[in-house]
Amino acid sequence: QPPTTTTHHVFKSKLPDLPNISNHLPLHTYCFENISDFSERPCLIIGSTGKSYTFSETRLLSQKTGVGLSKLGIHKGDVVMILLQNCAEFVFAFMGASMIGAVTTTANPFYTASEIFKQLEASNAKLIITQSQYVDKLRQPGQHFQVVTIDDPPENCLHFSVLSDANENELPQVSIDPDDPVALPFSSGTTGLPKGVILTHKSLITSVAQQVDGENPNLYLKGDDVVLCVLPLFHIFSLNSVLLCSLRAGAAVLVMPKFEIGTLLELIQRYRVFCGGGWCLAGDSAGEESMVADYDLSSIRVVLSGAAPLGKELEEALRNRVPQAVLGQGYGMTEAGPVLSMCLAFAKQPFPTKSGSCGSVVRNAELKVVEPETGRSLGYNQPGEICVRGSQIMKGYLNDGEATATTVDVEGWLHTGDIGYVDDDDEVFIVDRVKELIKFKGFQVPPAELESLLISHPSMQMQLVVPQKDDAAGEVPVAFVVRSNGGNELTEEAVKEFIAKQVVFYKRLHKVYFVHAIPKSPAGKILRKDLRAKLAAAATPN
Ligand code: AMP
Repeated sequence: QPPTTTTHHVFKSKLPDLPNISNHLPLHTYCFENISDFSERPCLIIGSTGKSYTFSETRLLSQKTGVGLSKLGIHKGDVVMILLQNCAEFVFAFMGASMIGAVTTTANPFYTASEIFKQLEASNAKLIITQSQYVDKLRQPGQHFQVVTIDDPPENCLHFSVLSDANENELPQVSIDPDDPVALPFSSGTTGLPKGVILTHKSLITSVAQQVDGENPNLYLKGDDVVLCVLPLFHIFSLNSVLLCSLRAGAAVLVMPKFEIGTLLELIQRYRVFCGGGWCLAGDSAGEESMVADYDLSSIRVVLSGAAPLGKELEEALRNRVPQAVLGQGYGMTEAGPVLSMCLAFAKQPFPTKSGSCGSVVRNAELKVVEPETGRSLGYNQPGEICVRGSQIMKGYLNDGEATATTVDVEGWLHTGDIGYVDDDDEVFIVDRVKELIKFKGFQVPPAELESLLISHPSMQMQLVVPQKDDAAGEVPVAFVVRSNGGNELTEEAVKEFIAKQVVFYKRLHKVYFVHAIPKSPAGKILRKDLRAKLAAAATPN
């Protein structure tokens, strides 16, 4: 249980709170609430084919998909897994499930079979919507779920048209409470294995409203804009801040299934993209950089970066590449709905964005900075653990009261495990992470997951996985391993391969250090932080 505090210093947004957030509605009603103003405008543009769906078509296809899901036996409270690259069907399935009170758990289609099965089991999903190329990973004995594919269905699978051809007039009338779950992304949070994060209708509506509603709307997008959706929709940042915010605001979402620099630049130029994710515009390599220079990126007015720290070099490269654009950061965490703070570049009274700043805490929320050891809340410019409170945060972890209680205290503060401070201008800066989580280009790599795989190897008796700084990825996972008696032959390559077979590419180990012991405190607590800090010195490579 994190220590609670008498709160002396609570930070609020620089903007006034929204007087009322419609968080008594179900999410789909809220997202499509204003669509009569823009029903015939493009809502989804599919980058690979140029096919587009208007707002009214998007709502209709979502309704049909909701009916189709209910005909396949999905009822209120049931969980559906979306295992898709970004595509229109992702949107119809997510919104359709919401319309019948069902819950969507999103997973990375590049996950290995065992990673998918862990999430399937934990979420108890009854139906999976996927692509035929991933179906082999789902074939396991004793499977208890239905599989729907958006392309040619392999044996025993159904085609997505069984959902999207249904009659929208047969949408079942379900009563949805604001506290009912609607999304179940998985996150390891501050410690341990990935857990289902229960986001309710109220949490997602509040979060979207905090970003695009009210007197100071369009903090980063407005109707008529084209917003790039290349970040994977299975991550809550893209699902919420790109998709749901655009639906609410009337902006078109340019859907790209995967990151490919040439196509991306061509699409930005063709569709006059207004808003894009930062990391993809700077160019990772010299070749990419010269390519970027060949395209007209003048339509871009805002570049948002989030999900991981934006390094100084990347920030500079972006400023040079798209000098006309506001470059801002959003700071989020799945459990926080996810946005905690964001740049206010487009508020009615614009605030200049400072280098390294993650903007100001979202409206209708409270943020405090606490001393981790004592729980004492700190004032301006003093770094400590960032905590946030508001209707946008998760209801809790699925079936894990203990993990919920160590993350959200009895006063309702979500403890992020991030170290940061608030400066004199109420801007949030993140300076460190005290939680175990490793972030590879914004993707989660939970050390506990890799440690639980390593422990099953007979030639190791102790292991610890920690982040190591990396220029390209931000951080990469590395392992410290104590060989067991008889494990003298164990090589670095063998350990790396053992892990690589079982995990998605970004969780692979980049280095294995063999050591004689893992450092522990006198009380027996593993000194993760020490190992991180002394990484190079403490290790004996090979
Ligand atoms: P996730 O739940 O996958 O969104 O990961 C959340 C974590 O990513 C946060 O708790 C931070 O550690 C990190 N993170 C997200 N946004 C930022 C940012 N703008 N700057 C630094 N770290 C960030």
